[in-house]
Amino acid sequence: MSLIFRMEDSPLGSVEIVLVGTLQSGNVGSVARAMKNMGLVNLKLAGLQCTLDEQARWMAPHAGDILDSARVYAGLREALAGAQYVIGTTARDRRFRTLMTPAQMAEKVLSLVPANRVAIVFGREDSGLTNDELELCDEAVTIPAAPAMSSLNVAQAVMIVAYELFCRAESWGPAAGAGRLASSGEQQDMYDHLRTLLVGIGFLNPHNPDIALGKIKRLLTRAGLTAKDVRLIRGVVRQLQWYVDSTRGPER
Ligand code: SAH
Repeated sequence: MSLIFRMEDSPLGSVEIVLVGTLQSGNVGSVARAMKNMGLVNLKLAGLQCTLDEQARWMAPHAGDILDSARVYAGLREALAGAQYVIGTTARDRRFRTLMTPAQMAEKVLSLVPANRVAIVFGREDSGLTNDELELCDEAVTIPAAPAMSSLNVAQAVMIVAYELFCRAESWGPAAGAGRLASSGEQQDMYDHLRTLLVGIGFLNPHNPDIALGKIKRLLTRAGLTAKDVRLIRGVVRQLQWYVDSTRGPER
């Protein structure tokens, strides 16, 4: 079977590579090249810390179109608003998460496309993704590497992830019943709403609400929320908020 398919037929058209806070323009160029090699086309740059100069072009021969069409965002949340499923990448073991391997990640991604847009997020060269940024992700993936040096160059990490996707995309067929999930924007708005309610009734610690909220997020992520599910939960939250406000009376 051929590994070459036409881009318009490729399930990888629904996959976005998102770079956060990249410091070196050469790395953005290398990412564009890796993407082009592996049949990915959508690049998003959130909070970019460099300009796409000669160095970026030099590292991206024949991949200038990916740099030209890259979309730029102030922050990660804005960059993710249109994605239905978000996967973070991290070299470090974040205790509170189950980390996927790149192979598991590729299987998951190909079960979600093309009904869903999937964003895969890569962090800064020096400090990676913050915990808050990882909280915007539905799942996280770690590339196995030698414990003495487990942190890869960001473009090499993109290459490994993209390669896994490319190899599986060849034998891909639309998964039966893979429905469209709620977008990241819809989900984050719902979690903001839920956070306000749960802090208000004393369920979440106002000084550190996101640890317990993260556990709720992971539970709901496992359910695979659709836009309709999100509307249902928001309806429940709205009604609870109304009930709390009306029984509590005006604040004194
Ligand atoms: N010191 C940082 C590493 C930054 S490397 C840290 O510990 O997180 C820059 C980016 O490359 C990371 O944010 C991640 O997106 C990706 N990356 C590097 N090594 C990786 C690995 N072993 N698994 C998954 N992603 C990795």
